[in-house]
Amino acid sequence: MSIVPVSLGDRSYDVAIEAGSLDGAARHLAPWLKRGRAIIITDSNVAHHQLPRLEASLDGLERHVITLPAGESTKSWAQLEALTDRLLALEVERGDHIIALGGGVIGDLVGFAAAILKRGCGFIQIPTTLLAQVDSSVGGKTAINTRAGKNLIGAFHQPSFVLIDPSVLDTLPRRELGAGYAEVVKYGLIGDFGFFEWCEANAARLLAGDAEARVHAIATSVAAKAAIVGDDERETSGRRALLNLGHTFGHALEAETGFSDRLLHGEGVAAGMALAFRYSARRGLCASQDAERVAAHLRAVALPDGLAAAGIAASGETLVAHMLHDKKMAAGTLAFILARAIGNSFVDKSVELADVAAFLNAET
Ligand code: NAD
Ligand code: ZN
Repeated sequence: MSIVPVSLGDRSYDVAIEAGSLDGAARHLAPWLKRGRAIIITDSNVAHHQLPRLEASLDGLERHVITLPAGESTKSWAQLEALTDRLLALEVERGDHIIALGGGVIGDLVGFAAAILKRGCGFIQIPTTLLAQVDSSVGGKTAINTRAGKNLIGAFHQPSFVLIDPSVLDTLPRRELGAGYAEVVKYGLIGDFGFFEWCEANAARLLAGDAEARVHAIATSVAAKAAIVGDDERETSGRRALLNLGHTFGHALEAETGFSDRLLHGEGVAAGMALAFRYSARRGLCASQDAERVAAHLRAVALPDGLAAAGIAASGETLVAHMLHDKKMAAGTLAFILARAIGNSFVDKSVELADVAAFLNAET
């Protein structure tokens, strides 16, 4: 079992990663389930594919399962209210732990419910998408969506424990797996050239289901995210912004598709990372060979490497306008994550938006 400790302020917890660990979950969860019962919140897809494994492992414990509809629209006030009502009916107390079994949607919603229930109860994450395993289950951000936008209502609330079983990815649709993989590559591109090289050599194995490759990629990603958020838990120093590599461009592409299934978040991020590297090369910040190498790897794993591959035909001006609606805009400036090389990214707050628009127009 691979254990990655996460330390944030005065809180710390372990992320445990092992293929097959869901089947032995009872042993891992025992310290948290003090009242002899398990309250599991999941979504309809995960309930079908993975819940039976967790339930079998918890045989003998009193179990309560709350199954919510799958999909982003579940991160809503209505679902939050229904969920907290059900948890209160179960008399969940502050010292109790509820279990989030699912992707980022379930993790974000359950984490937020835990943050506000009785002013904060405990929760455990069992992330079941690659994106949730390498990104959303680490860092303590929880949220729901509102009319005004995504993730605008939420709280920082750390789980007590995260249990990751890479074998749950066997039932994840291939497109979702690829989208999560974009966030894995991101950690190499941000600050770990060696890991990017490892990705180039092992992505095919990882995507095909190799347990050892998955454990290595997940553990490396979790450790990378933990190191960054540990330095900057509440996003004050700006270092946490590095995690947004590819996200400012990617967000514009997602917005252009109306945040539809035409482009999954991770696919937008992949195209966005390729664009961030090409834009860096255009500015003379990094070698164009580096930008080409990033794009080639993304293509090799069937991720989009730019506007055309992402199916986006909008003008640079339109895309920049989408960026300006992004919540990452602080005091009228946009922070871009640019690169000096693969594994050497930095935050640039002085980017000229007209220059970005011209770059994007030249891309189409
Ligand atoms: P998701 O939770 O919607 O899961 C994607 C799809 O896969 C869903 O249909 C789900 O039912 C299905 N699924 C999940 N696990 C499965 C499995 N093992 N087998 C079969 N199907 C499975 O989406 P996601 O990509 O995991 O997460 C996206 C969410 O995460 C967004 O709401 C985003 O805002 C949030 N997020 C949060 C953070 C954070 O720091 N809190 C970071 C990144 C993303
Ligand atoms: Zn992301």
